[in-house]
Amino acid sequence: MKTYIKPVGILLFISIICSSFGIFGQSRFTEKEFFSYERFVLTMQLLDAITRKQGSRRDIKAFATYFKDGIYALSNEKYSAALSKFYKSRNIWPEYFGTAFLIALTYERSGDIRKASRFYKEYLNKLETLESGHFPISRPLINFLNVDDMDTYHESKAIIEDYLRTYGIKLDNVKAPLFIAGFVKSVFIIFILVILFLVGYYSIWPYFKKQNRLKNPPPGFWICRNCEEENPDLVKECSKCRKLRG
Ligand SMILES: [Zn+2]
Repeated sequence: MKTYIKPVGILLFISIICSSFGIFGQSRFTEKEFFSYERFVLTMQLLDAITRKQGSRRDIKAFATYFKDGIYALSNEKYSAALSKFYKSRNIWPEYFGTAFLIALTYERSGDIRKASRFYKEYLNKLETLESGHFPISRPLINFLNVDDMDTYHESKAIIEDYLRTYGIKLDNVKAPLFIAGFVKSVFIIFILVILFLVGYYSIWPYFKKQNRLKNPPPGFWICRNCEEENPDLVKECSKCRKLRG
């Protein structure tokens, strides 16, 4: 009898260890619950309530509208429409992680796991930034929208890492997409316009001016193609650069 106690005790000990690992290793939710747009329905309702309140910010209202339309399109499997709505809401309020998550989910459902993984990475980066105390202005609103508290950096990272591994993608190797904020884009466009203007002013404009001058010399004169010197019709050679009349 005594000889059984020891192995039973060891087995019991091992099983306790295993189950405790199981408890700690397990998420509070399943993969299916996590990778769903349904979990943003409550967020959507909260946004709706915010937008219906008088005096709420116009940009948040616009954000909420695009966000809602995006979820609606996604639920109808209209992926390109969903993406365009989500991208617009992301432009208005880039700090919110939920939009990046939904863009990722949309790409994944439409079969583009590579792009999806990049937006899952962006989602994680935003969560990490939020939890490290950045976004002081939008943090209260972001936390308010994270009703079920499902999105925490470490848990989300673990679940996404596991998930992408089933596709053969290593999260560490994934790069988040480059995000260019609206105002940076306008600065860039202005910069390009200035460059185009300068190129036009200093090279294209003088070219046309020269062509015009060559074609319309003063009566009795011809213009040298090389140096633009005015020469009388009687001479065949430019008085300045010695080139023959072309
Ligand atoms: Zn000349």
